[in-house]
Amino acid sequence: MINLKDFNYPELEKWVRKQGWKKFRAKQLSKWIYTKKAGSYDEMTDLSKEIRSYLKDNTKLNAVELITYEKSKEDGSIKLLWRLEDGHTVETVFIPEKDHYTLCVSTQVGCAVGCTFCFTTKDGLIRNLTTAEIVDQYIQTQRFVGLDKRISNVVFMGMGEPLANYDNVKKAVQIMTDERMLGLSNRKITISSSGIIHQIKRMYEDPSFPQVRLAVSLNASDQKTREEIMPISQTNSIEDLMETLNSLPMKTGYRIMLEYVLIKDINDRPEDAHKLARLIGKNKKRFKVNLIPFNPFPGSPYQRPDEERVNRFHKILWQYNIGAFVRWSKGKDISAACGQLRKKEIANKSVQFTKKESLEMN
Ligand code: SAH
Ligand code: SF4
Repeated sequence: MINLKDFNYPELEKWVRKQGWKKFRAKQLSKWIYTKKAGSYDEMTDLSKEIRSYLKDNTKLNAVELITYEKSKEDGSIKLLWRLEDGHTVETVFIPEKDHYTLCVSTQVGCAVGCTFCFTTKDGLIRNLTTAEIVDQYIQTQRFVGLDKRISNVVFMGMGEPLANYDNVKKAVQIMTDERMLGLSNRKITISSSGIIHQIKRMYEDPSFPQVRLAVSLNASDQKTREEIMPISQTNSIEDLMETLNSLPMKTGYRIMLEYVLIKDINDRPEDAHKLARLIGKNKKRFKVNLIPFNPFPGSPYQRPDEERVNRFHKILWQYNIGAFVRWSKGKDISAACGQLRKKEIANKSVQFTKKESLEMN
């Protein structure tokens, strides 16, 4: 059965016409689904009973169902765990920031890339998420936290490699940025990739891929170290990756975010910071660096560097006039590494289901 959230606007219109309905039904449906975030067809009161009953029998509206959530006492971020139709689970993180709300969405169940510091990839890739499953993480979270807390920013930094699920991610971004649908600003959407060069090029050359921001998980400043922790580097070398990033056509005001997970004694030494600065070279304005202290997880082979080491690394980059920021993971008390709430649920079925009524938002 089709899910209406799998359609971008032109597809929705086409489908509506195929049913023999007038074109404006697409606008009505879009308003209910994306503006009002309706949870059922019964709420769509300006559609006739016949149409509603046809929709109920022939289409699906929702794609993810909340199983449980955890709210951080430290910073108010909320990690939500969803059940998909086939029983698999994925996570989303809702992050209140100073003056806006950000959502971190997943794009795959698991991940095939195999980075050694990442929990998501432990069981490999199970499957790609559908467009509806990506978009519905946004809509269901928005319903959960309340429509007054409008989520303006979306980062594709949850479970999975977005560019390995190119078509579904592209359509999700189309739905998110279409003014007739979710209507988010392109500038407030960031896609994070482990650095699959041909897919990054493809995205930039694809006229139907809305121009959003790019983040790349660099995580090392030389080929040897990067290969050790990110096997993708064997076929997408750090040199080729940097050359590609340096030659992408950049929209004014956009910078590429280089993500760098700091792992104790692996890539966090002062000499690594100097090497990173040299790798970035003259083109400093093109990049900004996001330093993410490693989040340990049960059985992980690595350690998080202490604050002093993180600060030293940070300071060296600033000495080169490179814009660098430390991102102490949000909701450390609830989330740790990405994919952990999911693991907890699988390992221990007793994770408490928390009722919405008891959620205190502040
Ligand atoms: N697959 C994409 C997006 C999801 S991962 C990518 O790799 O970019 C999002 C970010 O989380 C990446 O920058 C990744 O390096 C980081 N990450 C993964 N595991 C982590 C861990 N255990 N601690 C800290 N950051 C981690
Ligand atoms: Fe996949 Fe990103 Fe994790 Fe690497 S860091 S295994 S690409 S989710």
